[in-house]
Amino acid sequence: MEGLIMDYQLNVPAILRRAEQLFADKEIATRLPDRSWHRYTYADLVPRARRLAAALRNELGLVDGDRVATFSWNHYQHLEAYIGVPVGGMVTHTLNLRLHPDDLTYIATHGGDRVLIADKVLWPLVENFRGRVPFEHVIAVGDGPTPDGAIEYEDLLASAEPDALPDREIDERAAAAMCYTSGTTGRPKGAVYSHRAIALHSLASAMAGSLAVTEADVVLPVVPMFHANAWGFPFTCAFVGAKQVFPGPFLDGASLLEAFGQERVTITAGVPTIWMAILQELDANPDTYDVSTVRAMVVGGAAAPQAMIEAFEKRHGLRVLHAWGMTETCPLGSISEPTSRERALSEAEQYRYRAKQGLPAPFFEIRARGAEGLVPWDGATMGELEVRGAWVSSSYHDSPEGADRWTEDGWFKTGDIVTIEPHGYIEIQDRSKDLVKSGGEWISTVALENALMGHPAVAEAAVIAVPDEKWSERPLAVVVFREGQAASDEELTEFLAPQFAKWWLPDRYEVVDEIPKTAVGKFRKMALRERFATQPAETA
Ligand code: ADP
Repeated sequence: MEGLIMDYQLNVPAILRRAEQLFADKEIATRLPDRSWHRYTYADLVPRARRLAAALRNELGLVDGDRVATFSWNHYQHLEAYIGVPVGGMVTHTLNLRLHPDDLTYIATHGGDRVLIADKVLWPLVENFRGRVPFEHVIAVGDGPTPDGAIEYEDLLASAEPDALPDREIDERAAAAMCYTSGTTGRPKGAVYSHRAIALHSLASAMAGSLAVTEADVVLPVVPMFHANAWGFPFTCAFVGAKQVFPGPFLDGASLLEAFGQERVTITAGVPTIWMAILQELDANPDTYDVSTVRAMVVGGAAAPQAMIEAFEKRHGLRVLHAWGMTETCPLGSISEPTSRERALSEAEQYRYRAKQGLPAPFFEIRARGAEGLVPWDGATMGELEVRGAWVSSSYHDSPEGADRWTEDGWFKTGDIVTIEPHGYIEIQDRSKDLVKSGGEWISTVALENALMGHPAVAEAAVIAVPDEKWSERPLAVVVFREGQAASDEELTEFLAPQFAKWWLPDRYEVVDEIPKTAVGKFRKMALRERFATQPAETA
């Protein structure tokens, strides 16, 4: 029909232009490996991102759709790659620093990465895999001498003209970035983000009732830039003109808390294990840090225990914003920002809601499926969460064997078991592979863990399924006690008993010094299963 709206392309160049035209003087601060701070503004970032794009094309010969890997901490040069690579029509492929060299080799080779941009401080790790991947060029970032066989990042930027990019519009459906799932089951798989998905994800993240990032915010993402698209923050912040603060390699509680105060941080984000470390540091040294400017700590990647949410708010005035997402969903899927319905409830009830995963983001739809088809939204029936939306993967990169993750009508099967309330509030009960299937019924390990972490003596708790002759599986709780504290099995069971049906209570507890973590800091339950699930239960 004639008279239609323009076919305006929702792409990363549009985000860049907005930052350049409207927010040029807003700051980007980075803690360097020597702990000093580097500061510049979007006015400095934009031409450098364009130079990178031009150099990759004109000097190194890359073309549309070529993949450029990054192997970096969170810092301003990583942001330049995040934005510059897609502005040049290429695809940023963030590699996880904590992976084994065999996995990095597989992921970079499978991703078809032609160029690697890596931190000089990470070079010992780079050497473990760079020779095993057919990279055509390796670019070294940061202070210090250029490693053998690498191109100096600053030299590369200097070699290009910022306006030497071809003058054309990038199709919003073209690929802009890519990230591999951790592959806890099977080989890692690549999710590919389009320009349009990133643009809409930024818009949705900035919305009130969502993460609500605005120009006035100072955002310090603790989440590594290699984890799930850095939860979209590099793009969202550039889009709204928020100041960005990058912690570099310093992710310990004290360094982060110091940075919050110094930079007047308002929003920060990371997985629960990071926040547990920060909570311990704050509890131990309550008057040392100024966290008064922080208005939202976004917690996602694993369930935020209710006890942690309450402890931050009641003891330190810090507000946790619980969100759920996946590498395959850009990653924002749902946010637990209470609506007027929840705000009308008692304080105790409100905290219960804050520990749930919340309402789906706009342009993001949910449903859940049990053995008998789609389950009712009754807040009680468990089913596997299926999603579709403007930033949900429609397939994995070059992995036909992953096609079974999509339903026939095109919804993505998340592998998360949920209940959905009549008004759409999601509660993640478990990953399907972590559920305890006891006597034909499901037990949520997440619910048991959350409750256990509310016990004053418990620092961390992970619940796993162990084989059982009679019930097929039973829950076993692996517990880390706070320093100098302990509780008996009976005391823990007594603590849980009022909150759960009797058959949900763990039959067995194991005390450990530390729960093994994955490359992005989540509990590595597979390792716990290997360690404990094969031993016969002592008490059955
Ligand atoms: P992986 O954990 O496999 O490395 P992702 O980071 O993409 O990869 O993880 C996505 C998964 O993390 C989700 O499917 C879900 O199981 C879990 N998850 C993410 N956010 C939350 C949350 N707020 N509560 C509970 N689980 C979460």
